[in-house]
Amino acid sequence: MSNSTRGISYEEPLSFERSRPGRRGVDLPPLDVPEVDAAALLGEALRTEPAILPELSEMDVVRHFTRLSTWNAAVDLGLYPLGSCTMKYNPKLNEQVARFPGLALAHPHAPAEDVQGLLELMFKLEKQLATVSGMARVSLQPAAGAQGELAGVMMIRAYHESRGDTRRRKVLIPDSAHGTNPASAALNGYDVVAVPSGDDGLLHPEAVEAVMTDEVAALMVTNPNTLGLFETHIARICEIVHSGGGMVYGDGANLNALLGLSRPGDMGIDVMHFNLHKTFSTPHGGGGPGAGPVGVVDALVPFLPVPIVERTEAGKYRWDEDRPQTIGRLHGNHGNVGMMVRAYAYILSLGADGLRRSAEMAVLNANYLLARLSEHYHVPFPGTVMHECVLSDRGLADTGITTLDVAKRLIDHGYHPPTIYFPLIVPGALMIEPTESEDMEGLDRFADTMIEIAREAHDDPEALRAAPQRTRLTRLDETRAARKPILRWLPPDDS
Ligand SMILES: *Cc1c(COP(=O)(O)O)cnc(C)c1O
Repeated sequence: MSNSTRGISYEEPLSFERSRPGRRGVDLPPLDVPEVDAAALLGEALRTEPAILPELSEMDVVRHFTRLSTWNAAVDLGLYPLGSCTMKYNPKLNEQVARFPGLALAHPHAPAEDVQGLLELMFKLEKQLATVSGMARVSLQPAAGAQGELAGVMMIRAYHESRGDTRRRKVLIPDSAHGTNPASAALNGYDVVAVPSGDDGLLHPEAVEAVMTDEVAALMVTNPNTLGLFETHIARICEIVHSGGGMVYGDGANLNALLGLSRPGDMGIDVMHFNLHKTFSTPHGGGGPGAGPVGVVDALVPFLPVPIVERTEAGKYRWDEDRPQTIGRLHGNHGNVGMMVRAYAYILSLGADGLRRSAEMAVLNANYLLARLSEHYHVPFPGTVMHECVLSDRGLADTGITTLDVAKRLIDHGYHPPTIYFPLIVPGALMIEPTESEDMEGLDRFADTMIEIAREAHDDPEALRAAPQRTRLTRLDETRAARKPILRWLPPDDS
């Protein structure tokens, strides 16, 4: 078998199992310290048989991983329009800065006086995030957006409890929300009440009023929402929740549309998370761990996770652990600090004007794609969008072609598919977020491809149903892949 889809041709092993007895990648130097009696030290714990490990040369390993990397989609290879996930380009400058030895080699338990530079960076990043969002303070500790949400709802709960207000056991969440919102509420012991979106895809004050009682601890809201629409009633909605004694949680995953243009704190949001791996260009998933700082207004500051960085009068930085009302620690160390370094480098390299321009370009790009595609795909909520747009497969119904087929065909054209079948309130949703990274030529190439696929749905639906064809594997049995995944290597004897 040979791979010719990407213009390269090379021998491809038929299985991942490349181990050969006796093959090795390194030679250990001869022992130059006194040999110890391992049996006396370890007793029964001493293994009598060598471990079964893959035996490979360095070249085998390099070729294996390099080959796997060519089977993947990546932001470094092309447009990755995964809506809500903001797969923007990760500038290489950030990577360079994150590798500065003083930052990369700092020990998480080093005394504060030995890592003043790193603490200063964290202190300043906190201030930048607070400025951008209109929050009073920010904890950088959460390791993902979902953990930031969890921490945010924990702080809301601690706030109500600190006031002896223990009746509140419900959290209101719009039906267009991301699944992590109800999960964060439920993990805090709250009952979730779904609030229906209006026919225009927006959350309406009347819908919130109808379910707002003195048992409601909070409303969790995403703005712009997952349809890419700005919640124009947000200020009134926050008023309704506040006057009923509740707090408003803002899911900040979609902050990319607002940077430098408007601030959740000014809209009435009390607590929100940021996704450094979305808005602030740090890598996602396989490229590195996430980071989900959480910001709060003054009333919630006493409950922030510990420790936080403070500046002393002498201009030094220190860890503050002594916060009696804190919800506690969320991470064994101080969070994913390498991601904070990258986000800080990103914010400094763009500057305030650059951040605003990134939001403007993200919004312009999404509206450009929507304008080019709206004649060819059904648009469930027409109008101007923010940083992403949602289409559906309704216009293709007479061809039998579904959103899944369109997504699979995009893979044949070298694109990672958009987010599909989300938000749940749009049947057959295709949620496209081009981000500000993409240039005009890239947007046009993607739009041309989507239009060609719509045409193919009518002219050659079989080709779509058989997609992807130009990949390593053709269409997978998604149920089996989800139910019986093979996620790790097993030695041949155990498999
Ligand atoms: C990505 C996302 C989250 C969760 O963030 P993670 O960092 O993936 O945990 C929450 N809400 C929305 C709207 C998102 O897009």
